[in-house]
Amino acid sequence: MFICLWLNSLWGKQPNILFIFTDDHALNAISAYGGPLAKIAPTPHLDRIAKEGMMFNHCLVTNSICAPSRAVVLTGKYSHLNGQLTNKNVFDGSQQTVPKLLKKQGYQTAIVGKWHLKSTPTGFDHFEVLKGQGQYYNPMLFTNGKNTNHTGYTTDVITDQALNWLENRDPDKPFFLMCQHKAPHGKWEPALRHLNEFDDMEIPEPPTLFDDYSGRSPASARHKMGIADHIGEKRLMLSYASKFTPEQFKQFDNAFRPKNEAFINAKLTGKERTRWHYQRYIKNYLRCVKAVDENIGRMLEFLDKSKLSENTIVIYSSDQGFWLGEHGWFDKRWMYEESLHTPLLVRWPKKIKPSSKNELLVSNLDFAPTFLDLAGAKPTKDMQGESLLPIFKGNTPKHWRMTHYYHYYEAGGHGVPIHYGVTDGKQKLIRFPDNTLNTWEFFDLQKDPMEMKNLYAEKSQTADIEAMKKELHRLRKLYKIED
Ligand code: CA
Repeated sequence: MFICLWLNSLWGKQPNILFIFTDDHALNAISAYGGPLAKIAPTPHLDRIAKEGMMFNHCLVTNSICAPSRAVVLTGKYSHLNGQLTNKNVFDGSQQTVPKLLKKQGYQTAIVGKWHLKSTPTGFDHFEVLKGQGQYYNPMLFTNGKNTNHTGYTTDVITDQALNWLENRDPDKPFFLMCQHKAPHGKWEPALRHLNEFDDMEIPEPPTLFDDYSGRSPASARHKMGIADHIGEKRLMLSYASKFTPEQFKQFDNAFRPKNEAFINAKLTGKERTRWHYQRYIKNYLRCVKAVDENIGRMLEFLDKSKLSENTIVIYSSDQGFWLGEHGWFDKRWMYEESLHTPLLVRWPKKIKPSSKNELLVSNLDFAPTFLDLAGAKPTKDMQGESLLPIFKGNTPKHWRMTHYYHYYEAGGHGVPIHYGVTDGKQKLIRFPDNTLNTWEFFDLQKDPMEMKNLYAEKSQTADIEAMKKELHRLRKLYKIED
């Protein structure tokens, strides 16, 4: 009896945690972040989270690629310690993870949507996940040992299933739900209701769409993520990736085929062809974001109607940022700003001051210790991040990190070489250790926020570069990358 009362009182203090996680969502595609597409990005519900909570302007990932980022969120450890260095690894589900630790704190734990870690999810009372990347239409979800085929748009289906779990959970226990969308990962197939969004406008091009990479080391010119030459037919919706129902196909094809035929007949070349690619890409990307946002609206509405909003912390993030044409790119991976940053919006009524903005260097490394802290548990000593809870409450913890370490391991994916580096938000030092490159880059982010000019060879920068090299070495020791 006493134990029950004690547990109930403990649970009463433990907030529900709704973690909404997307794939490849750039800050510039969220209106609240105020980027160049702020007036176009279709994100009223994400903006609502920012308005009612806290927006982090510098949430940096440790390794800007899908599966490794997910493993960092689950473990609170850098890739070399959780074993998920690249998308090709199979996640070791026997290791310590957040859902396992939260279960010990009395939480119900569930994950619905994209998992992308190859092994069967562990530590969750309920899992319902896409196989691999999944597709945008009619997904199959793998559910505690059986596969279920669903008809519909995957972003809607994932939300349906997440809400279904919420409705049927044990209301006497707090919950930890990871609702993880495939969108807006490529190939960017919009929902049928959004096929003609943005048809009547030209989306502004980023000023670096035609970057020739001459201002940087030879590394970035090796990319294979160009909107001009690498994006391919399926990413441009010149052919389709999903298996549609006949009715879906009819609507989808009716929207794209006439425009595709006009494009093919126009025989565009050079910059005009790239510009067409960009418009096609960015519009479909934003259409996919619109469906994500609408579905976040559904979840917020559910919390309101169920009177769960006050005791539920809503955390929105993505596995990394993304290139929306900057430097001529789609995709991620580089330590440059747009893929290094990931969105982080957090709403916690009566705890977080509405419309707060935070400029500290935080990281997806901090998510795991934050989840534990919220549940009333101490982050384990082997976790390498820090709890964000004091920051949510408006405080800046003493000795908060002033620099961030980054390490990308998937050699050759989209032409991106292995690299690592450090940034303090004002300067950035990147090392490309590959024998064929063996080079460094150094950027002044204040004077050159678009990172167009590598200053590594500039004599005037020598002292700053040496200081950053020392810091890089310190962080590599701290994070157990080198002795
Ligand atoms: Ca991703």
